[in-house]
Amino acid sequence: MIVMPEKTFQEEGQAELPLLKDKKLIKEEVNRRLVHGIKQGHLEYDALYNHEKSSLNKDAEILSMLFQRLFFYRLNEKLAAFHCDHTYRFSRQILTQMQLNRGKINDILEIFQKNGGVCDCEVLYNVESRLIGKDPQV
Ligand SMILES: [Zn+2]
Repeated sequence: MIVMPEKTFQEEGQAELPLLKDKKLIKEEVNRRLVHGIKQGHLEYDALYNHEKSSLNKDAEILSMLFQRLFFYRLNEKLAAFHCDHTYRFSRQILTQMQLNRGKINDILEIFQKNGGVCDCEVLYNVESRLIGKDPQV
């Protein structure tokens, strides 16, 4: 089994990062964060994140990493183009693209399952929704 080095999430530099509006720049930022975990600009999507709400989750740290690295963003894109086949097909694909090792990927899928995300579309309905928006889930 090949074990990839664990990647952490880092914001480049100290200066205020620009808000990206240009489609091409957004695409580049998504790939940079997803694959390399490096943030060079803000996306409008970032503002959806609700720190207070997500911190209620026991697995807040890993879920917040996935949000920041735009895992859910990419999964949204995939499911806008393709139907969910009620597996973790796209989740696995994206997590692999993030260069996470197999053990880590299985840990993450287990966390999804625990939070009601039993397939790609349920990950968006039941897991991403615990991190974004205003109302805490009852
Ligand atoms: Zn599904």
